[in-house]
Amino acid sequence: MSKRSEPSRGLPKDFSVAEKSCSLYEDIEYEQYWDDPAQARQDALEKRLISEMLPARGRRIIDVGCGYGRLAPVYIDRFDSVVLYDGSMSLLRHAREDIGERAVLVAGDVMNLPFRAASFDTLLTIRVLQHMTDLGGAIREMRRVLPRGGSFVFSYHNKRNARRVLAYPKTRQTADPFSLESAEVSPTLISHHPTRVAALLGDAGFTDAEYRGAVVVNGLAQLTEKFGRTEPSGLAWASFTGRHALAPWLVGRASAVGGGELAPGDSVEALFECPDCRGNVARSDESYRCGACGRSYPIVDGIADFRL
Ligand SMILES: [Zn+2]
Repeated sequence: MSKRSEPSRGLPKDFSVAEKSCSLYEDIEYEQYWDDPAQARQDALEKRLISEMLPARGRRIIDVGCGYGRLAPVYIDRFDSVVLYDGSMSLLRHAREDIGERAVLVAGDVMNLPFRAASFDTLLTIRVLQHMTDLGGAIREMRRVLPRGGSFVFSYHNKRNARRVLAYPKTRQTADPFSLESAEVSPTLISHHPTRVAALLGDAGFTDAEYRGAVVVNGLAQLTEKFGRTEPSGLAWASFTGRHALAPWLVGRASAVGGGELAPGDSVEALFECPDCRGNVARSDESYRCGACGRSYPIVDGIADFRL
């Protein structure tokens, strides 16, 4: 049990790790957050950009930090197998109500994915990296479950975005947008520098990423909506604000370089691995049990709970 008392590197520093190591959004109404008109525009733009960046077809996708399954409609029909992965049981239960048997639901930590190497041909992780104090560790762990050529589609909060850069000389109130270290803007928002993200991606074994900026100007959006505009606001400049890293939110796509082929397996179940010792796990009734360390992981409400 020693792992439990150590601070998880994957979570914000002032978050109560001992009590809720995996449950950043436990019991909050995360879906309601997206109902506000400005957030709804951001949601529409993100979904469109993610849809364009994900492969058109694939064998297996994992959505790391899927929440209540907000993005599932974007990819669920494109892949043979879909894994929704999150730290929050309450959000996964919510996802299960909407998505049911079409996806495998798994609870666990980002830093210890309970899967064999090269289990997925696509890994999607949106609005997750801003919680990572150990960004390099998180990226390496996600790279581990991708095969050679696997797709990594992700987003992060850009520390050097245009607004920050313009405001900085006057106020100097926020972190220096040009310094490479990550900045904790709030307990749930850690902002990363594009140059550092690029270096960590390279170190982990990814190609250079291609980016789109997810930025909506709400005043402008209200005006264009009046004229019956149908495409998501912000789409027109997403390539420009992404390529030059001007947007506060960047959606990126990179490919895994080197490593093994996609792991064989007819079911997602065959890909599970003990997140504590990396031993093989076998299913017995309502749990998975590790053959090496003996640890047991329950299946609760149809959700495999691999939280440590
Ligand atoms: Zn084990």
